[in-house]
Amino acid sequence: MTTLLSTWEAPGEVAIREAIARYKAGHDLMTVIEEGLSAAELDPSLVAIGLGSLPNSDGEVELDAAIMDGRDLRAGAVCAVRGICPAIKIARKVMQKTKHVMLAGEQARRFAIEQGFQPQNLMTAENIRRYNEWRSRPEEAEKRYVHAVEEHHGDTVTMLGLQDGHFVAGSATSGLAWKKPGRVGDSPIIGAGIYADDEVGAAGATGYGEELWKGMASFRAVEGMRRGLTPQEACEETMRQIVRRQPASLDMMCVVLALGKDGSFGAACTNDVFPLWVWRDGEPTLHRFEPIAR
Ligand code: ASP
Repeated sequence: MTTLLSTWEAPGEVAIREAIARYKAGHDLMTVIEEGLSAAELDPSLVAIGLGSLPNSDGEVELDAAIMDGRDLRAGAVCAVRGICPAIKIARKVMQKTKHVMLAGEQARRFAIEQGFQPQNLMTAENIRRYNEWRSRPEEAEKRYVHAVEEHHGDTVTMLGLQDGHFVAGSATSGLAWKKPGRVGDSPIIGAGIYADDEVGAAGATGYGEELWKGMASFRAVEGMRRGLTPQEACEETMRQIVRRQPASLDMMCVVLALGKDGSFGAACTNDVFPLWVWRDGEPTLHRFEPIAR
């Protein structure tokens, strides 16, 4: 039995459709997740992931990504990488070709070039336009593009996959729009943005990275499932704990999602409705999760 999950409506759909196509073509689960995330990273119309995503306060796109193999807890990640895309493919290379979990910034870029990646300009006419808009009217642009409720086009793509008892988790993002250069969020941090353990299940996070990281959202949800909670219960428990200990998690949308061994899934979020793509067979379906009651 195979189950795939992918976060947010627009980028999540690009990712899950590509992942399904790769699955049907016979690829292994890690490649399925990697290629799903890569497709979203390479789509310039998606403003929060990869090519054409919203840049940092210097006007430069900095990408974070991570992938984790539930079989043996191997993981690879990159953070604050400029000028190379897809970051998820570099993360997988870190896992495969080094003894490390994460490479950062300029050195991650150097490693990627050594591995045959081509440097490229990740700014497009559209994200330059949005950056200039932010520079001239920061408050308005913050409202429109950073986790805005009314124009929420989706953010980090976090994917979880289960195939015959094996889990893979992956994430790719440009992080928060107009972040301080060098800022890294939860997404590439193992335990915060993603976690996968074949003994139990997989979990991922998206939203306000600082709070999700401090709360170790993904690891906490997986450990909840280890104690016997369903994925939905584990996510709700995780989010309630984060809200209780970290009230700032209510300042911006926070989400945790989880996938269990039987293919059941769940999610819990703070401020807004969270859309999650789910695929088992046929067409992927979009599930919407209401914010947890405070
Ligand atoms: N969690 C990401 C970060 O803080 C952003 C997001 O998911 O939208 O970098």
